[in-house]
Amino acid sequence: MSGAVECPFCLPADAEVLEQTADARLLIDLRPLCVGHMLVVPRVHVSSVAEAELSVREGTLGLAREAATLLRDTFGEAGIYEHGGSPICRPRSCQGGPTHAHLHILPVAEDVLLDRQPDEPTGLRGPAHYLYQEIDDDVPSASQSLGPTVPRHLVRSRLQQTMAERGMRWLPMGADRHLHLTAIEETLRLVRTRDRTLEGARPSADRPLVHL
Ligand SMILES: [Zn+2]
Ligand SMILES: [Zn+2]
Repeated sequence: MSGAVECPFCLPADAEVLEQTADARLLIDLRPLCVGHMLVVPRVHVSSVAEAELSVREGTLGLAREAATLLRDTFGEAGIYEHGGSPICRPRSCQGGPTHAHLHILPVAEDVLLDRQPDEPTGLRGPAHYLYQEIDDDVPSASQSLGPTVPRHLVRSRLQQTMAERGMRWLPMGADRHLHLTAIEETLRLVRTRDRTLEGARPSADRPLVHL
């Protein structure tokens, strides 16, 4: 696909990859909102998980649920969030081309679908722009179409408001790099402790992380 070669989620740096399957990769978020913030991206370049074929969708959600379970076991709660079709959350990505679907996995379960109607059907939506979440034992919910675009960092801004209200530790996008690197190291320690198969993954603090 045009532009995909430059896409950070099509070709992530080895150091960012915590786990990979035939369908998806678990990545560290390079500017984490908090310790535990990870991403799950399908290997194929689609602009939302809803647009991937069924087997890829299931594989991507399966890996996201594994990561969420790890966080839930550690922090007591976890959420899976997708801002489907939103601009990618990384600068200079995809050279203005189609964005690459990614699920945010975070140790906070909060309803970000503030204006959802109670009778809306659940599940991933496509190809419209939407918000998707799994915050309550894998029961999915999704917003109606959000219109032509999803604002950048919509999930992040809603969750950081929640975390601030609850007095939880969180990092703004523009925090000092060493604070993000410290949170990344803590996440890696956590993942290594919980899952021995992920021991090899580790970004180097000596080497600039790409796209950071
Ligand atoms: Zn891509
Ligand atoms: Zn994002």
